[in-house]
Amino acid sequence: MDHLYKSVDAVAEWATLHSRTVLILAALPLVYGSVTYLQRGRRSRSSSGAGRNALGVTNIYDVVIVGGGTAGCVLASRLTEDPSISVLLLEAGTSAKGLQFAEVPVALIRFVRSKWDFGLYTEPQAHAAGRKCMWPQAKLLGGCSNVNAMIVQYGAPSDYDEWARLQRGQPGASEWVYDSFKQYFRKFEKFNPSKKFPYVDRTQHGADGPFDIGYDGHYSKLTSMFVQSCERSGIPRSHDFNTALGTLGTSETMTYIKPDGRRITTEIAYLTPEVLAKSNLKVVTQASVTRVLVDKAAAGVRAVGAEYKLPDGLIYTVKASQEVAVCAGAIFTPKILMLSGIGPAEHLSPFGIPVVANIPGVGSHLKDHLVVDLAYMDKTRQSLSYLAPVTLTQRLRAFGATAQYLLTGKGPLTSNIGEALAFARSDDPNLFPSEGFSVSTVPEDTTSGQDAPDIEIFFSPMAYIEHATKPGPSNGKYTFMQHIVLLRLTEDVRNDTLTLREP
Ligand SMILES: Cc1cc2nc3c(=O)[nH]c(=O)nc-3n(C[C@H](O)[C@H](O)[C@H](O)COP(=O)(O)OP(=O)(O)OC[C@H]3O[C@@H](n4cnc5c(N)ncnc54)[C@H](O)[C@@H]3O)c2cc1C
Repeated sequence: MDHLYKSVDAVAEWATLHSRTVLILAALPLVYGSVTYLQRGRRSRSSSGAGRNALGVTNIYDVVIVGGGTAGCVLASRLTEDPSISVLLLEAGTSAKGLQFAEVPVALIRFVRSKWDFGLYTEPQAHAAGRKCMWPQAKLLGGCSNVNAMIVQYGAPSDYDEWARLQRGQPGASEWVYDSFKQYFRKFEKFNPSKKFPYVDRTQHGADGPFDIGYDGHYSKLTSMFVQSCERSGIPRSHDFNTALGTLGTSETMTYIKPDGRRITTEIAYLTPEVLAKSNLKVVTQASVTRVLVDKAAAGVRAVGAEYKLPDGLIYTVKASQEVAVCAGAIFTPKILMLSGIGPAEHLSPFGIPVVANIPGVGSHLKDHLVVDLAYMDKTRQSLSYLAPVTLTQRLRAFGATAQYLLTGKGPLTSNIGEALAFARSDDPNLFPSEGFSVSTVPEDTTSGQDAPDIEIFFSPMAYIEHATKPGPSNGKYTFMQHIVLLRLTEDVRNDTLTLREP
């Protein structure tokens, strides 16, 4: 009996405890919801009054920059040179400064499909056998300047003139013409001359800018062979693609690699400790902007702030007294604008997004470069395929290359992967003589001018698939690759668009 009572007591106690637990569990969402609600209320109230939030963000800045990528870091740094302008930079990702491998040039493949990449794919592409194409986009301060191939390539001078023409009538349009714009290349460059490339005219480049450019990366022997082959095929040698002489020709690649063998990014170059110490700049990482706040009552429509989400799950708002600069890249800029009600009305309305500005062009006119990769076996074994080692010999070579890099900052780990380039025109009779190519196969002239290319070939001293996220086609063999790029899209693939799948 006693035993039974004890059991009943135990059950009762369990039941009480259990029901208390159930009650607490049931109440949790309510409590959480209320706290969140109160916090939201508090945060949104604080955004319209004085004070700072837990991250030291005040409620109002002159300029709010959305996206601390390649463009956002430059903008933040340059704007805050004027101490009277206060700037808030909101970046969805983290800083790359603490990542050990981030500055090793060849390690760019480490970022793709990592937590520092947005993990995007296109929709199935009709012109790529219905495949969804991988679309790397870095989620980091410095943005895609952390993951790109470090190729210094500004485009043809006539591209800039064409850009100015297309903007004719808009404020500042004429400043995009090449002759006016080229001063900014000099302002941003720090050209590091190289004895191996003596014919580059250093007077054509800046010497004191924050961004290192030069020939300090690795060039495989295969790379010189590629350049020589291009020359033999009729593509002239270029000593520098980035001058008023234009881009046509072939050469080893000029890169954004410093003399000490490290990659430079806009975070490193522009968000220096001195810049970050400025009292008129606040940088917030892991801040994902959900929309731009817009004042419709003002004359026209005016961006007056931004709404952003922090890892605590809460939504914060901040006001901009002068401007909101959306620099979230080619994909996320139109997305944020659309979520803010700025875009094609007929696309936004079905999502229940109130339209503040019906601008059909938002999300349209997307131009990407289509690339066809051609992989080859390398009988000479000069290829860098051993950096993804399979055999013991390759492991030893990879170990040697790593040791060389650690000791000297030189060697194969400073390869930018795209070590040489060739730019040509598809109507060049030297390359495509009429006896081999019938007139009907000559494509439309999509270039911006007679000195501008429509074809690029870049050379990699190793073969890889999908940004090296899949095993290469070599399976331990030595390989290299040519990548054929269609620089200017032809009529049938010209009108790509970005649309929302879900709000
Ligand atoms: C794989 C690859 C290779 C390339 N190779 C070269 C090359 O060799 N040479 C060359 O000149 N160019 C190269 N490019 C192109 C070049 O890197 C890009 O044109 C350039 O980095 C784009 O700069 P951006 O500022 O417009 O965008 P990004 O640099 O992408 O910056 C956008 C920023 O916005 C942030 N962001 C996005 N959404 C939000 C949000 N909701 N809230 C807050 N922040 C947000 C992102 O995290 C990112 O930091 C390459 C690009 C890629 C992807």
